[in-house]
Amino acid sequence: MQKANRIHWFLGTLLMMTFFLINTFNAFAAQTSGIIDNADENSVRGWALNRSDPGSAAEVKVVITNQTNGQVVAELTTTASKYREDLAAQGTGNYGFEIPVPWNSYGDGTYLVEAYSGGQKLSGTRVYPVGAAAAASLQNSSSNLRSLGAFRTTAYCPCRKCSGGWGGRTSTGTIAAANHTISVDPRVIPYGSRIMIGGVVYTAEDCGGGVKGNHIDIFFNTHGETRAYGSRNVEVYLVQ
Ligand SMILES: [Zn+2]
Repeated sequence: MQKANRIHWFLGTLLMMTFFLINTFNAFAAQTSGIIDNADENSVRGWALNRSDPGSAAEVKVVITNQTNGQVVAELTTTASKYREDLAAQGTGNYGFEIPVPWNSYGDGTYLVEAYSGGQKLSGTRVYPVGAAAAASLQNSSSNLRSLGAFRTTAYCPCRKCSGGWGGRTSTGTIAAANHTISVDPRVIPYGSRIMIGGVVYTAEDCGGGVKGNHIDIFFNTHGETRAYGSRNVEVYLVQ
């Protein structure tokens, strides 16, 4: 397939998944809608609205998880009762929320920010970096995430056993780098995509004969590191 077709295929799949999710929500729950608009150094902001009772102030719970070790560091609650002019065109506008977040008390790392209301997860899951290393990995202060679901992840290095005669050269012509390069099935993840795995943001820039479907091979510098990594099933995210 040509690269453009791969991207179309990928977008088509996302569109299908979106329709499926919308239909599922309409059928089974879907009284609450809302989104996380932003996470910055002070707070997490968004809106939540109970559509069956639009005058009420919905309860919102924001869950913050350290992506490096998987630990939930905070569950913060508030009510969505803040007036926002940009929301007023759709209803009262009295359903914004803002929760102060003491990021520095959590320590350096990459934090996943999710919000729930009325038993439903709000859209707009975000990631926020604390410390220079996490900020450099994300390239900016806060990014939107889209979960791609669970993938099998494995590890490879430039050695002959892992990479044949290719060494550190990738299939897209770059030189592979640790904490940066991943090998993907480009029919599932297009080249150039930024993918967060375990709090690290990688770039899809390599492929391999053994990497098919929901499988990602992560580049490491040494074979010892690939042995230590082994094979892990983890939820991965597209960084947008
Ligand atoms: Zn190796």
